[in-house]
Amino acid sequence: MILAGMSLEELEILMSELGATKFRAKQIHNWVYTKSVSTIDEMTNLSKDFREQLKEIASVTETKIKVKQTSKDGTLKYLVEYPDGECVETVLMRFDNRANLTACVSSQVGCAVNCSFCATGKSGFKRNLNYKEIIEQVLTIQRDTGLKVTNIVFMGQGEPLLNLDNVLKALEIFNNDFQIGARRITISTSGIIPGINRLADMDLQSTLAISLHAPTHKLRAEIMPIENKYPLDELKKALLNYVEKTGRRITIEYILIHNFNDTFEVAKELAHWLKDLKCNINLIPYNSVIENDYKKPSSNDIMKFKYLLEHSGKKVTVRLERGADIDAACGQLRGKTTK
Ligand code: SF4
Repeated sequence: MILAGMSLEELEILMSELGATKFRAKQIHNWVYTKSVSTIDEMTNLSKDFREQLKEIASVTETKIKVKQTSKDGTLKYLVEYPDGECVETVLMRFDNRANLTACVSSQVGCAVNCSFCATGKSGFKRNLNYKEIIEQVLTIQRDTGLKVTNIVFMGQGEPLLNLDNVLKALEIFNNDFQIGARRITISTSGIIPGINRLADMDLQSTLAISLHAPTHKLRAEIMPIENKYPLDELKKALLNYVEKTGRRITIEYILIHNFNDTFEVAKELAHWLKDLKCNINLIPYNSVIENDYKKPSSNDIMKFKYLLEHSGKKVTVRLERGADIDAACGQLRGKTTK
C-alpha cells in the first residue's frame, strides 16, 4: 500500500484497522503532504514499534527521480519514474522576487494530440496517469527540494482534458491535502471541447488555459491536428459558453513562431478572434526543440506582436523563458532519455 495519495479519511480507516488512534492518521498525513518525507522511518513522532508495523503493509512512495537537471535561473526539471518503468517530466519554476513556486505537471505518458512543435507529441501516446501518479510529481519536487509548491499548472506532457477524471481527482487532493487553493491551479488544453463543456458545468475556481497558437483554421491545422477534430469556430462557442457559465476569465496561450504566426496580419486576425472573449493572453516565444525547424522570433517582433494585441484592449504578457540551458521544452528530456 502506498501512503502518498491517500486522504485523511482513508488514513483514518487504515489506522482503525491497525488499532491505532485517529491522531496517528493526522500525523502521517502531515508527514506525507507537508513535510514530504520519502520513508516511514522519517516519521519520527511515531513509535519505532508502530513504524515497523506500518512498514509491513505500506510505504510512502514507489516513485523515483530518474534524471534531474538544474538551470542557471533556478528552474528544476525532473524525469520522474513510476514502478512500471514509465517516465514523465515535471518542472519547478521559481520567479525572481516572488515567493511562488510553480510546478508544471504531466497528465499522461506521451500524448496523442501530436502538435508539430512539441517533442512529447512526436513520441506518441503511451497511457494515462492515475491521480496518484499526478500528485506524486509534486511530492517528488517537495521531497527533493524541501520546499512547498504553491502553484500548479497542468502544462506538462499529455492533454489534461483527455484524462479529466484523474486530473479532477488530483485537483481535489491538491486542494484538500496539499492546501493549494484552486485559484492557484491552471488546467491547460489544446481545445478538447467535451472537456471544456464539462468544466463549464462545474464550480471550479481554477483557471482554464487554451493553447490557441493560431487564429485561423488553416494556420492552426498546420501545427495542431486537433484543429481538424475541434475547429476554431466550435472552440470559440465552447469558450464563450464557459465564460458565460463560470464568469471566469480564460488564459490564451500563444506560442510565437518566427515567420509563421508572428506577423502583423496574424496579430490582427488574433485580436479579431479574441475580441468578444473575456481573456488574458500569454505569449510564449518558441523554445526550439531539436526535431524541427521552427525558430523563435526576435525580441523586436515579439514586442510588436504584443503591442498590437494590447492595442485591442487585452492584457498581454510575454512568458519569461525558464530553463533555457536545460531540456526545458515539454518532452525534450523524456525524448532524450528514452531514445
Ligand atoms: S503541446 Fe501538449 S497537447 Fe500538444 S502534443 Fe504536446 S503535450 Fe500534447
